[in-house]
Amino acid sequence: MKKQIAILGSTGSIGTQALQVIEEHPDLYEAYALTAHNKVDLLIQQARKFMPEAVVIVNEEKYPRLREALSDLPIKVYAGEEALCQIVESAPIHLVLTAMVGYAGLRPTINAIRAGKAIALANKETLVVAGELINNLANQYHIPILPVDSEHSAVFQCLAGEMGNPVEKVILTASGGPFRAYTLEQLRTVTKEQALHHPNWSMGAKITIDSASMMNKGFEVMEAKWLFGVRPDQIEVVVHPQSVIHSMVQFQDSAIKAQLGMPDMRLPIQYAFSYPDRVKSSFERLDFSKCTNLTFEQPDTKRFRNLALAYEALRQAGNMPCIVNAANEMVVAAFLRDEISFLGMSEVIEQTMRKVGHIRIPTYEDYVATDAEARRKALELIGRNRY
Ligand code: NDP
Ligand code: MG
Repeated sequence: MKKQIAILGSTGSIGTQALQVIEEHPDLYEAYALTAHNKVDLLIQQARKFMPEAVVIVNEEKYPRLREALSDLPIKVYAGEEALCQIVESAPIHLVLTAMVGYAGLRPTINAIRAGKAIALANKETLVVAGELINNLANQYHIPILPVDSEHSAVFQCLAGEMGNPVEKVILTASGGPFRAYTLEQLRTVTKEQALHHPNWSMGAKITIDSASMMNKGFEVMEAKWLFGVRPDQIEVVVHPQSVIHSMVQFQDSAIKAQLGMPDMRLPIQYAFSYPDRVKSSFERLDFSKCTNLTFEQPDTKRFRNLALAYEALRQAGNMPCIVNAANEMVVAAFLRDEISFLGMSEVIEQTMRKVGHIRIPTYEDYVATDAEARRKALELIGRNRY
């Protein structure tokens, strides 16, 4: 039987690569539902090609165009956030790939878990915001959360066959982004055009800015805590500019296992689809005659304060990571509108962390309220225009 997959965010960087994986294995996988936010034309193209059971466009203004364009096909067409949350519950779906960006991923992920669907998790913000709640739900419903983020997929692959062997350390590699070698002085004036140019990966705008500011790595530390049940002091970040080693695990006998390969997100996506099996792929192979220089550096949290803020949020726990995520979404959007400087982003995040009340054991409703409050506070700070 073919695995029925719902792709939330099929028009994005991860979503389109997931469709390439499905296209390469029509005997194994089928796109059951595709969803997008705004890119209606691409969604129409994808629907005509992959013939899913249903499509959802979150922006309701685009619904008439989508319905009209697919009216000759037996594809169900829906619009709005509520429809997105409901589509994941459809009985035939085996696996939901959460490939949308930001906090918006939280509610559909919760619904998918409650409906008993396996989760292939790209949307790391969901675990950043509410890792404890998601883990508890996944345990309660016996749902696997399969990592798609390349670092976490690497760790997950290193852990295969190690059941019962305690992990001493998870070592996440970081490319260091486009500003790895910049001085603090140079970082003051970098532009969004420079930040959007990642040396090794082609990704959506938000995560590309997060990579340049190292917030992405901070979020990945939080993601690792929830996915692998390790303490923050067991998670180390190592800058490895070539992005060949995707991450590592150190065991209690001192052995370190690593997963290596070309930087290509289709592999972790495919592994989440095929787990625990591996299936053949046409992806480019690593050629060791061309990769003769693998280097490692310590991350610099003075220049990249976001990484320190993320560890601090993890230490304070409760709703603090949710506050950081909300503030970060606001500053990244502002940076992309040229309304805040690169270093100003960390300033606003740090101040927002101080201004929103800490809740030690938040409920879902607390997360919703925290997210709204932190966005308001961050926006106020950005509006003062001093950053
Ligand atoms: P993109 O910006 O390329 O794509 C985001 C997708 O989500 C698009 O389909 C977009 O729709 C949709 N979307 C945006 N906002 C909403 C919303 N409010 N509600 C529902 N859908 C929405 O992002 P990426 O593919 O790069 O990243 C997706 C997630 O995967 C992020 O959480 C990111 O951190 C994570 N990730 C990405 C990696 C990568 O290589 N790209 C690597 C590791 C993790 P539309 O385009 O139609 O507006
Ligand atoms: Mg990553």
